[in-house]
Amino acid sequence: MIPIQNDTESHWSMELTQAIRSPSELLTLLQLAPHQLPESNNAEEAFKMLVPRPFVARMEQGNPNDPLLRQVLADNIEMTPVSGYSKDPLDEGNHTPRKAIVHKYKHRVLVITTGTCAVNCRYCFRRHFPYSNNQLAQREWDHVIEYLEQHPEVNEVILSGGDPLMLKDSQLSKHVARLNALPQLKRLRIHSRLPVVIPSRVNHELLAWMASSPLDIVLVLHSNHGNEINQEIAAKVSQLKQVGVTVLNQGVLLKGVNDSVKAQVDLSERLFAAGILPYYMFTFDPIEGGAHFDISVTEAQKLMGQVAEILPGYLMPRLAKEIPGQPAKTVLAPSLSDH
Ligand SMILES: *Cc1c(COP(=O)(O)O)cnc(C)c1O
Ligand code: SF4
Repeated sequence: MIPIQNDTESHWSMELTQAIRSPSELLTLLQLAPHQLPESNNAEEAFKMLVPRPFVARMEQGNPNDPLLRQVLADNIEMTPVSGYSKDPLDEGNHTPRKAIVHKYKHRVLVITTGTCAVNCRYCFRRHFPYSNNQLAQREWDHVIEYLEQHPEVNEVILSGGDPLMLKDSQLSKHVARLNALPQLKRLRIHSRLPVVIPSRVNHELLAWMASSPLDIVLVLHSNHGNEINQEIAAKVSQLKQVGVTVLNQGVLLKGVNDSVKAQVDLSERLFAAGILPYYMFTFDPIEGGAHFDISVTEAQKLMGQVAEILPGYLMPRLAKEIPGQPAKTVLAPSLSDH
C-alpha cells in the first residue's frame, strides 16, 4: 500500500469516502444501544445522515445526548409539521438574480458553489434549498463574473453552499483566479464547516491558492460546541494564519447542543485558544424539521447576557438573526441582568 500523507487531496477525499452514512454504524462506534436513541427512519429518508470519522472521534462514547451527536443524528420528530416553520425561512428564493447568486446586502454577494457538504447537519437552514447537488458549471461561473462586472459596488464575494471546500483545489484555484482579476474586489470570504469536520482539508494545495491571492481572505468556520475544536484544527488554523488568512467562526444557538452559559463560554475559549475569533452566533431560523432545536430570541438574549458577564468583549460572538427584507443582519443585544 502507498502511504498516504495526511495533507494531500487524496487524504481528505478518502476521509470523505469513509464518512459514516448509517445511524446503526454510528451507534456501534459510540457504543450506544438503539433503544437509547429516538426513532429516525423517516427523518433519515428525508435527509440522509453524513458524518466524517474525525468528527465522530470527538463524540463521547456511550452518551446519547452528546452535543456533537445531536447535530447529526436524525430524529423522526423532524417530520412533525410545526406551524411557523418553513422550507425557505430566509426568503433566499426571492434574492437569487441568477442561479447560484444570492445578493441581499449591497456590497457583498454570496455564491452557492455546490449543494453538497461533508456533514449533514439536522438543523441546516439550507436543507430544503432547491440547489442541484452538482457544483456550478463553468458557464454558471461565467455568469457570476458577468454579474460582478455589472455590479461594481460589490467588493466582497462569499463562497458558500453547501460547502465550497467540497470543490477540488484545482477547480477552486481557477475560479479564484478569475475573482482575483476583478479590481473591484477587496475580500474573498469562504464559509465552510469542512476544516472542522475533516481538518486535513486544509492541505498544501489550498494554502497555496490562498497564499497567492491578492485578495484578503476570510475563512468563516462553522462550529457550535467546544468539543468540536481540537489540536489538529488549531495546527491547521496556524498554517492558514501564516498565509495571511483571517479565521472566524459562526455558530447556531441550538437547544440541547449549546444553549447553556458553560457551552457558550467553553466554545469561545476553545476557539480563541485555537486561533479563531467568534463572529456570529445565530438564533435559530424557523426551518421545517428543526423546531426541536429552537430557543426563543428572548431566551437567547438572556443566555448571552449571562455569557457577557464572563467573557471579554472580543470573545463574545454577535448574537444575530437574519430578518428577510433587512439590508444587513440584525444584531441582538445580550440582556444584562441588573444585580
Ligand atoms: C449572511 C449573509 C451575508 C454576509 O453577511 P455579513 O454580515 O457580512 O456576515 C451576505 N449575503 C447573504 C445572502 C447572507 O445571508
Ligand atoms: S455544513 Fe453548513 S450548509 Fe452543510 S449541512 Fe451543515 S449547516 Fe448546512
